[in-house]
Amino acid sequence: MTVELISVGTEILLGNIVNTNAAFLSCECAKLGLSCYYQTVVGDNAERLALVLKTALERSDIVILGGGLGPTQDDLTKEIAAKVCGKEMHLDEDAKKHIEDYFARKGKVIPDNNWKQAMIPADSVVLHNPNGTAPGVIIEYGEKRVILLPGPPNELKPMFLDQVVPYIRDMLPGIILSKTVKICGIGESRVEEMIEDMINAQTNPTIATYAKTAEVHLRVTAKADDEAQAKKLLKPVVKELKNRFGTTIYTTDEAVTLEMAIAELLLANNLTISTVESCTGGLLAGRIINVPGISDVFKTGFITYSNKAKRKLVGVKKSSLEKYGAVSRQVAEEMAVGLKDFTKADVVISTTGIAGPDGGTKEKPVGLVYMCCMAGNVKVTRELNLNGNRAKVRESAVANALILLRECLLEYVSENTFGKE
Ligand code: ATP
Ligand code: MG
Repeated sequence: MTVELISVGTEILLGNIVNTNAAFLSCECAKLGLSCYYQTVVGDNAERLALVLKTALERSDIVILGGGLGPTQDDLTKEIAAKVCGKEMHLDEDAKKHIEDYFARKGKVIPDNNWKQAMIPADSVVLHNPNGTAPGVIIEYGEKRVILLPGPPNELKPMFLDQVVPYIRDMLPGIILSKTVKICGIGESRVEEMIEDMINAQTNPTIATYAKTAEVHLRVTAKADDEAQAKKLLKPVVKELKNRFGTTIYTTDEAVTLEMAIAELLLANNLTISTVESCTGGLLAGRIINVPGISDVFKTGFITYSNKAKRKLVGVKKSSLEKYGAVSRQVAEEMAVGLKDFTKADVVISTTGIAGPDGGTKEKPVGLVYMCCMAGNVKVTRELNLNGNRAKVRESAVANALILLRECLLEYVSENTFGKE
């Protein structure tokens, strides 16, 4: 089944707002197994909107329009959609009541033009909007469906997830189930090489790769008559991926992030952690502290940006700074050792690098980053040459530091099966 997206709003055409709704809807539609071949942005113009919608209805089964459901003159999505589909508009009592209640709760008088939001095309399903006044609408147009959603993302997203997804699921023959296998520490092309045969042979389930910063996610998607059958189809494929990628898979749960997987390792083994960062300036600690409950094990996060701070807070030797420079293997190691002495954490990690745009030399170019992780007897120092601008280098450095942290943790935990004494 195909879906087509139309984002309505002159603001989007002008680049005043970024079309995050389309990105969100594309992702969610893919999860439902819908194929999306076309997406359009059109301004708040009756004629062009009608033309775009007519074209979409000629080639797609479901058309989703976002925006232009507001009360003002330039909000014309619903009126145009009704016209294109040949549907009369009528006053919907529930929608009217919702608007009355909404304004009553806010203690405001209802502006005259808000009543038009209670007008609904015939043969439609009204979608409740708990976060605003404009109801969404699903117009049943023969076998096709035209779905109208309000523009503000905080209204569109919950409406789509809570009401449209179940509606579309009911329309689909069978069900779609997917499992995400998240891999870290192996590049995208290497991952694809390792599963080339599986990708070439795929029919059902299908495997799609998504490259993230220092991670690759594989989404395995099965279509079947019911959930049990879909699970049965997914199982051997996920098992085979686990065989091939081993411990580089940090989760098969869509909701779990890399820092969550690391936090789980720390918490399960009751291991405390401290960080000392130079080029990543707190971003690494920030990622770890994203995880609720981490306060049980996270001790200290230093940002030792200057040489003085490196010396004073984590005892990096003056001679090392002079001899090797702040961005060096030696300094990364001394930072980690000093941090361990100072905080007595079970696990420590340091970063130091050149994020740019300035400060690079031929020997030490922008993107050169050193990191050192110590977990018990395990001590690994890594040199990385990262690409991109300042923000990208820092983001990649953090992702790589998390990967290093996880590797050291896994090694330490496997060597100390019984955990901490
Ligand atoms: P309203 O009742 O607020 O007028 P609406 O349904 O008429 O809602 P629009 O007027 O098109 O929607 O957009 C309202 C706001 O929603 C925009 O100013 C923008 O902040 C946000 N918005 C609209 N479309 C998008 C989009 N495609 N992606 C992200 N944000 C959007
Ligand atoms: Mg509007």
